[in-house]
Amino acid sequence: MKFLEQIEVKGRTVFLRVDFNVPLDENLNIRDDTRIQASLPTIKYLVQKGAKLVVASHLGRPKGQFNPKMSLKPVAARLEQLLPGTKVIMAPDVIGDEVNHLKSNLKDGQILLLENVRFYKQETDNDPEFSRKLAEGCDVFINDAFGSCHRAHASVVGVASFIKQKAAGYLLLKEVNYLSKITHNPEKPYVAILGGAKIEDKIPVLKSLVTKADVLLIGGAMAYTFLRAQGKQVGKSLVEDDKLEIAREILKKAEESQIKFLLPLDHVMTASIESGVVNQIAEHYPLPEDLMGVDIGPKTIEEYKKQIKIAKTIFWNGPLGVFEVKAFSTGTVEIAKAVADSGALSVVGGGDSIAAIHQTGVADKISHISTGGGASLEYVAYGTLPGIEALG
Ligand code: AMP
Repeated sequence: MKFLEQIEVKGRTVFLRVDFNVPLDENLNIRDDTRIQASLPTIKYLVQKGAKLVVASHLGRPKGQFNPKMSLKPVAARLEQLLPGTKVIMAPDVIGDEVNHLKSNLKDGQILLLENVRFYKQETDNDPEFSRKLAEGCDVFINDAFGSCHRAHASVVGVASFIKQKAAGYLLLKEVNYLSKITHNPEKPYVAILGGAKIEDKIPVLKSLVTKADVLLIGGAMAYTFLRAQGKQVGKSLVEDDKLEIAREILKKAEESQIKFLLPLDHVMTASIESGVVNQIAEHYPLPEDLMGVDIGPKTIEEYKKQIKIAKTIFWNGPLGVFEVKAFSTGTVEIAKAVADSGALSVVGGGDSIAAIHQTGVADKISHISTGGGASLEYVAYGTLPGIEALG
């Protein structure tokens, strides 16, 4: 994979894929511009080098329809504020004659922001004809949209077949550097912490980590599907009944690979999440029939901290409980602190775990906070991503 500084861009038209999928409020104001800020180093570099920039992104899920509520117009305005002196032209469309005309009239150092690529169904279909039209008039393809690299979409993968020169931007390169370190050559002991609501989204990463990590620490609702798969009664806790078989398979694999696959030893139990009240800390099975587990208990925190302390490499995705509710956030907060204090190479991905890191105020002690939750999980599972492969 080439890096953008290895490619001559002066006077060339560069198709730059970024992730500007920012949250908008009901008045279409940007609520958080972190994702725009994340690609500024790449954009600034290209502008300074005198490239003509054609910038593409998705925003939300318009499902192949034009939808003014998911237009990138507010992003164009913000981008111009963030880049004083740089002209940012908002395109009326993604492809077509008018857009091609704007592309060919770009001057060195100017930016043309295309409309939301997902206004076309062909984007998510990775349609070759649509990809060709996206690439029209462009000499270089730069991908800086790590958060979209697990998607084989036209503006991430398809477009690469129609542009010879291609490379990764700064953000993508940084993500790949960290993720490849933990995936291909982790310093041992390698401790992976997985939480969150569902096993479903994490089956490939679980299957991979049971053979690659030394220790797997499981929390969140996901833990209850594993406990149930072991035959334990877990009260009203969330269990994915249709995933019990796969959970058993994963447990068996973990045993065969002789890794430590740790499930919670005790549980913070509540009658209802809405109550925000801890009714009991339970450690014996069956767990109380009328209560649900919403956080890891103090014994589990203690044990998981011990494992984290000796780790040299840590990957963490997903909260260990319903951390949005203060009374059920202790486990996630304590684990965030332990990861921060570990001195290990630590990579954290996924919106909720990142929120927990920020809430705990330890972001500066984490080696790398990934901008793509789904993408980082897939990278760890498969060791690469379709968007990275497309760069050659
Ligand atoms: P995910 O998107 O899979 O990382 O899941 C994050 C969500 O899982 C958060 O909204 C948490 O509130 C939820 N969650 C974590 N632990 C539990 C639990 N024990 N019971 C119910 N929901 C949980």
